[in-house]
Amino acid sequence: MKSQEHKMPRMEDILNLPVQDPPCAEFSAADIEWVKVEGGRQGGDDIALLPFARVDDFVRGESSNAECPANFRIESRRKRPEGSISKPRVDGYLEYTLYWCSYGPEDYRESESGVEDGSNIKPASGKGSRPGRRHMMRGCLCHFTDALGTRAMYAPRISEELRQKVMSMLYVGIPLDKIIQHHMEMVQGHGGPHNRDDFLTRNDIRNMERVIRNSSHELHTSDECSVKVWVQRHHKHVFYFQNISGSEPFVLGIQTDWQLQQMLRYGHNGSIALHSMFGVKKLKYPLCTLLVFDLSRNAIPVAWIISCSFVSQTIQKWIGLLAERMQAKDPRWRPDSFLVDDPSFDISTIREAFQCRVLLCIWHVRHAWVRSLLRNCSNFDVQREIFKRLGWILFCTRSGPHAMVALEEFMQVFVDQSAFMDYFKRRWLPTIELWVSGIKSLPLSSPEHNAAIESYHLRLKSKLFNEQHANSWPRVDWLINTLATEFHSLYWLDQYSIETGYFDDLRDKTFSTNAWHQALHIPDVDVILNEQNLQIAKVISQTNRNLAYTIWNPGSEFSLCDCPWSRFGNFCKHVIKVAILCKTRQVARPLLAAQVYRQALLTLLQNPPDDPLVLDHAVLHATRLQQDIKGLEELSNNGLLQPLPPEISSQVTENMLFPRSE
Ligand SMILES: [Zn+2]
Ligand SMILES: [Zn+2]
Repeated sequence: MKSQEHKMPRMEDILNLPVQDPPCAEFSAADIEWVKVEGGRQGGDDIALLPFARVDDFVRGESSNAECPANFRIESRRKRPEGSISKPRVDGYLEYTLYWCSYGPEDYRESESGVEDGSNIKPASGKGSRPGRRHMMRGCLCHFTDALGTRAMYAPRISEELRQKVMSMLYVGIPLDKIIQHHMEMVQGHGGPHNRDDFLTRNDIRNMERVIRNSSHELHTSDECSVKVWVQRHHKHVFYFQNISGSEPFVLGIQTDWQLQQMLRYGHNGSIALHSMFGVKKLKYPLCTLLVFDLSRNAIPVAWIISCSFVSQTIQKWIGLLAERMQAKDPRWRPDSFLVDDPSFDISTIREAFQCRVLLCIWHVRHAWVRSLLRNCSNFDVQREIFKRLGWILFCTRSGPHAMVALEEFMQVFVDQSAFMDYFKRRWLPTIELWVSGIKSLPLSSPEHNAAIESYHLRLKSKLFNEQHANSWPRVDWLINTLATEFHSLYWLDQYSIETGYFDDLRDKTFSTNAWHQALHIPDVDVILNEQNLQIAKVISQTNRNLAYTIWNPGSEFSLCDCPWSRFGNFCKHVIKVAILCKTRQVARPLLAAQVYRQALLTLLQNPPDDPLVLDHAVLHATRLQQDIKGLEELSNNGLLQPLPPEISSQVTENMLFPRSE
């Protein structure tokens, strides 16, 4: 830096200047561009930034400049000793050198003639006033500093973006050498160094390693205080915070810059899904995640909400703020759909905030029921029969009273399955009517989304619920820290790797190739679908051609497969493959309602009424119903389905279940 004044003005302006790296071995002031930066005591300075490693080349170049050779001397120097164990100051230098032109700064020509004016500027060290050098002091003010450090005041810092990138690499465990090597490749890739970021040094990375090593999630012994400190330090990444007080619940909404970018990118014209109530039993407060879906239909967490209260009760506090945050960045930003996993959410609040259609995601309820059945019923036949019946309760009785009748019957038939029934009555009975009416009034999310949400759920579980963290589960600060550092970095790495092709080998593919992806790789010929018997389908195993898995209740949201992955309670590729095929072949539609209709129609055709007039009427009636259902499905697919008035919906139900040949 060349300056007419010791104190640097407008640091931010200076740090934003391009770093210059002239191609010649030695260079002088004439070889670089000088930018006038306003401010400072003298009203402005001519400034240029050079890489730390080129300072010697500049000093040599200036000294050998034939027209006006300059001569620099070191005015002051500070260096942190190698291996020092004292804690480095955050704003301290690792190395700092102030060079000053030998012809300055004091001007002794006048003082020697007896006129001293006090306005001369003296460098901090004061060495320049050595009497022996007075003869050459002419008041030249050109000087520069050369500094290296964590936040060395006069040294340009790397950008926040690069810092986040390197931190993420460190969190996912990429070694220092590999980061440097990758960085060099990137810099070469864009034609050599241009700015400070391109001169990322080992020291920069070591500093970040140290920050990670020395930081703890416990910012205070009290969890509550610790969370408050975290919020203060990361206020940029907090879009909503309310501490617990009186009747007000604790609510914390987190969104990093990177998450904001992903939400802007994939949320626009895309889907946003809520994954709520995670860790109700283990964590102090449950976690709710907002997800978007990338181009290969994998879920990316774009916001986390931690609250001691049900999300449905606090969503109105933060959802509007989040939508505003998006629209402030891009006023045209608008999602295509918003997926809720709990019908008790206030749908109108969401519609108002995001101005888009709302879909109901039944992944969560399906997952919970399967897991409980696997735990509580030992007989596979009973498991899948219960599961099928549960599906019928949700889907096939499209009006209140019928659902309740079917439910009564269900609970009587399986009364001996007391372990499951206890769970079902405690956890689901209070909200089952809400679910039935939610399914009646909202379109459902697709298997693509459900598979992606399940993948996210499993990854969250494997990261957070590792037994080694069991002691930390009751602390909110631990949850926040883990999400914002390690867990965040996993998703950063996935996207970075997809975009650049680097580090592909370091990605954990178990979570980025979800069941829907895998289903796309199963050829149609491997699916055996008997149109005469829609109770089961078979899919040939992709790893062992001699093996075929059986899928019960194919094509519906409540189908079950006997493959090992499904037997762990997961949504398997076979179930999805069969559902895709059923839909494209129009054999059975994913909506169970269509299957019920089909059964009724078959019964009617197998037992035709004797009277041809009655038969005509029945066929006409059936055709109309078919059109009704097709229309409903189209509406449903377009997300325009509104709740039917009760009298119409019960009539439709009756017609579907008991077609009459009046
Ligand atoms: Zn000079
Ligand atoms: Zn399967």
